[in-house]
Amino acid sequence: MPFQSQWKVDIPDAHLATLIFKSPTHALSTTHRCFSDAARPDTHYLTTSEFRLWSQRFAAGLRKSGIKNGDRILFYSGNNILFPVVYMGIIMAGAVFTAANPAYIARELAYQLKDSGATYLICAEANLPTAIEGAKLAGLGTNNVFVFNDAVFQLGGTYASPRSPFPPTKGYRYWGELLASVEEGTQFCWEELSTPILSNRTLALNYSSGTTGVPKGVEVSHKNIIANILQYNHLFFLDPGYKPKLARAKWLCFLPMYHAMAQNMFVGIAMMRQVPVYIMEKYEFVKFLQAIETFRITDLTMVPPVVVSMAKRPEVKHHDLGSVETIFCGAAPLGREVCEEAEALWPDRRVNIKQGWGMTETTSIVTAWHPLDKSDSACVGELVPNCEAKVMAEDEVTELGPNERGELWVKGPNVMKGYWRNPNATKETLMADGWLRTGDVAFMDNNRKWFIVDRKKELIKVKGNQVAPAELEALLLEHPAVSDVAVTGIPFEGDERPRAYVVLKQGMTASAEDITSFINARVSRIKRVSGGVVFLDEIPKNPSGKILRNVLRQRAQEEARVE
Ligand code: AMP
Repeated sequence: MPFQSQWKVDIPDAHLATLIFKSPTHALSTTHRCFSDAARPDTHYLTTSEFRLWSQRFAAGLRKSGIKNGDRILFYSGNNILFPVVYMGIIMAGAVFTAANPAYIARELAYQLKDSGATYLICAEANLPTAIEGAKLAGLGTNNVFVFNDAVFQLGGTYASPRSPFPPTKGYRYWGELLASVEEGTQFCWEELSTPILSNRTLALNYSSGTTGVPKGVEVSHKNIIANILQYNHLFFLDPGYKPKLARAKWLCFLPMYHAMAQNMFVGIAMMRQVPVYIMEKYEFVKFLQAIETFRITDLTMVPPVVVSMAKRPEVKHHDLGSVETIFCGAAPLGREVCEEAEALWPDRRVNIKQGWGMTETTSIVTAWHPLDKSDSACVGELVPNCEAKVMAEDEVTELGPNERGELWVKGPNVMKGYWRNPNATKETLMADGWLRTGDVAFMDNNRKWFIVDRKKELIKVKGNQVAPAELEALLLEHPAVSDVAVTGIPFEGDERPRAYVVLKQGMTASAEDITSFINARVSRIKRVSGGVVFLDEIPKNPSGKILRNVLRQRAQEEARVE
């Protein structure tokens, strides 16, 4: 029998905008600042009603420009307080949102543009050169590329007229062109999705390599995202003392908003709880500490490298972090020792670092914590409402019991619809009866608490970001001296780094530096083979030619121990 969550919530069939704003005309706060720019909070902020109106203006403008239901729009930008507007505007228009890592190089962007079949590319000004190159590679006309920045704020304040002279953008179209007038925005109504069929409409394509292969578009629906917001929110409201906590809550978004975890947390959940969010354009450790101190941030959502910095870096001592009450960490494994080191910043032990687990294919969160429980291990909490899980033996048929380790399979309303235009990959990962194979090795203890103990899928995680070995392997095989290759993660200071095992062609030579510079020129920083290049005579494979990744992973772990 599968393990069930002990809670259940009702999940309505609706448009995400309805969950957040109730309706296109419902009276919303004109004073609550839902998003503020952490660097310019006095001038760059959005109130709840402004957030909806900007989004409606953008949605109306997109429709006027010819965008139809289901068209994909790719957003290629770092964090910005107008990021949520672009996200909401696109989905209010009935289009599908897909965001690319702003650190992507042109080839990586072109891949996502082509794979998603995006109609428009909206790119941050700083990304324009790469965007132009990427659009060219993907065959997207320059007329469909729009430059994004928040200069609209300076053009007549928050309610800039679309007729304002838009800033010059080196001959490219400006996204402000797509903002309809205030009147048109006010009148814009998104389509209500109040039946199971309608709420199953795709809202976003979030890219993930899943258990194998190259990145694929994870199709998540309105229902998926609404479910995940309500599932996570439910746990928070189990605390009888939640009201005063909400009254003082302030969040800091320094995680990249192109990732579903940040979108769910800082747009969906923050809006539901009406928690003000301070958005940092880019994560920098000292600025992050300053922001906590300045804005009296109460809750932090982190990835392991940030917890490591909090535990180890001396700058933490120079900042007043006394406002912090909770820390949630996810995205990659994190040892308990380092959590304790970080918790020591609050000598009264008031702050307890709790981990959660989830994946892009589950929209975001699957396990989290009851607010009154205390974590004293690397446990990732328990199943959020309406989720089921089972632990599968090697034969993929036998279900294991509590305290037994095996592959974690999960099921619930937050599990993706499938991989975009990729039925084969979908079939391999998502069973016909709704079970999703996660590729993670886990067990559940006698208290319903989950532990992630290993990863059997190919995925490497660098600073919380996905790196797909298959992508690096395909590129490495383009090197003239390389005959075979396998990439795996090597542990490094609580994180991972990609390491390439390379077999050279007979009679050819290449140094580790040659290979490293070849690959590093073709990928964004996070995917560089910073874990080194190791030459082998042959790549370990099974009789059918599949790379024995567990053998390589073990080898990498041993190498890490002696290096
Ligand atoms: P992503 O799709 O980018 O969110 O990555 C999901 C994967 O990250 C999971 O399948 C795990 O392998 C890993 N992961 C996420 N959270 C944790 C965690 N708390 N502990 C260990 N691994 C995690």
